[in-house]
Amino acid sequence: MYHSIDFFQFQKKFSTENKCLKYLMKQRCHNGFVCPKCGNNEYYFIKSRHNYQCKQCSYQLSVTSRTIFHKTRTPFRK
Ligand SMILES: [Zn+2]
Repeated sequence: MYHSIDFFQFQKKFSTENKCLKYLMKQRCHNGFVCPKCGNNEYYFIKSRHNYQCKQCSYQLSVTSRTIFHKTRTPFRK
């Protein structure tokens, strides 16, 4: 019984997070992704890992990572 409840909650949670993730992705696209490493704004999205990968330098950025907000604000000339 506990098992089925846990599973249900997990599913519920997962679908919510999935929506959240999709929202995050959309936002990221609208705001424009900029690679913190080389400043390039063209990238691939790696579905399986929920990561962005820079087309130019292959730098990978996690969508779920909170540091993404911090990193994208880092000046490129650094
Ligand atoms: Zn890059």
